[in-house]
Amino acid sequence: MNHGLIDLLRKLSEAYGPPGYEDEVRQIMIKELEKITDEVYVDNLGNVIAVHKGNDPKIMLAAHMDEVALLITHIDKNGFLRFHVLGGIDPRVLYSQEVVIKTENEVVHGYIGAKPPHLLKPEERKKVPDIDQLFIDIGASSKEEVEKLGVSVGSTATFVPRFKELKNNRVMGKAFDDRAGCTALIEVMRKIRNSPCTVYAVATVQEEVGLRGARTATWQVEPDIGLAIEGTTSSDTPGTPEHLTSTKVGQGPAITIADKSMVTHPKILRRLIETAKENNIPYQFKRTVSGGTDAGSIHLTKKGIPTGVVSVPCRYIHSPLSILDLNDLENTIKLVDAFVHSYEG
Ligand SMILES: [Zn+2]
Repeated sequence: MNHGLIDLLRKLSEAYGPPGYEDEVRQIMIKELEKITDEVYVDNLGNVIAVHKGNDPKIMLAAHMDEVALLITHIDKNGFLRFHVLGGIDPRVLYSQEVVIKTENEVVHGYIGAKPPHLLKPEERKKVPDIDQLFIDIGASSKEEVEKLGVSVGSTATFVPRFKELKNNRVMGKAFDDRAGCTALIEVMRKIRNSPCTVYAVATVQEEVGLRGARTATWQVEPDIGLAIEGTTSSDTPGTPEHLTSTKVGQGPAITIADKSMVTHPKILRRLIETAKENNIPYQFKRTVSGGTDAGSIHLTKKGIPTGVVSVPCRYIHSPLSILDLNDLENTIKLVDAFVHSYEG
């Protein structure tokens, strides 16, 4: 087992990073990237932009720091919190979950409750409660008590960090979408320290709410080539027919052909495939065209930027925990590293 890699993934997975509030993740990214790149700065939206200076072409690698989260929108007189979701969360995964709310000075723990089962009408029992029927209980008994803890309308909450090493070189944790990508981004920059290419490592904000940070970052970087590194959905689990399985855990990095936000530029797609083949790196295609990534914003910048996506397959993304295979993460790092090297000379 690669303990350095596991520790970095764990640290990033456990960091708190709702869209727009990525500070904890940003601090880790800055600290790691400062050691291995020529320059690191943060733009006005909070994107971390690290530069490895070299020759053309200018390659931009991007991974997003934010995770799906909850936004507190109402506090009732009995101290219960109502919320909306930031990013796509299936309401089925919310009920009965523990959450954590980080305020300026406090870490507040809470639990998502709903009307108890014995009070439900027969037809209600068959349905998943809507988000507006759920509430967060932080143990307070009044609005004043909630406010005293520093929790207010506008506070955010995330699922609880519970990183675990599983059997078979697999790990389980929160927010692998896209802390797996953030981990890979750092490791790739470490590997390409002597590359003659110019490489920008961009850790973006607000991907989960509309690929937003990547948009402003790409305008500043003006890359020739873009590559998003993601933690993507894997549905290699019971109940999914083979032809609807997007990716499979343990079968290598997933190369996107097309999704809702982009059709991968054929030039980049070809190069990713050839690079994987030449370097004997296992790979697979993402076989569904759902979802979108930062590449959707990157490729539409200025005159258009040929862009691709390489992802670590993760089961159960956008839920409290996801599972990935460390071999896939390592092979993603190898593939992106080899992709950068393919532009040398
Ligand atoms: Zn993502």
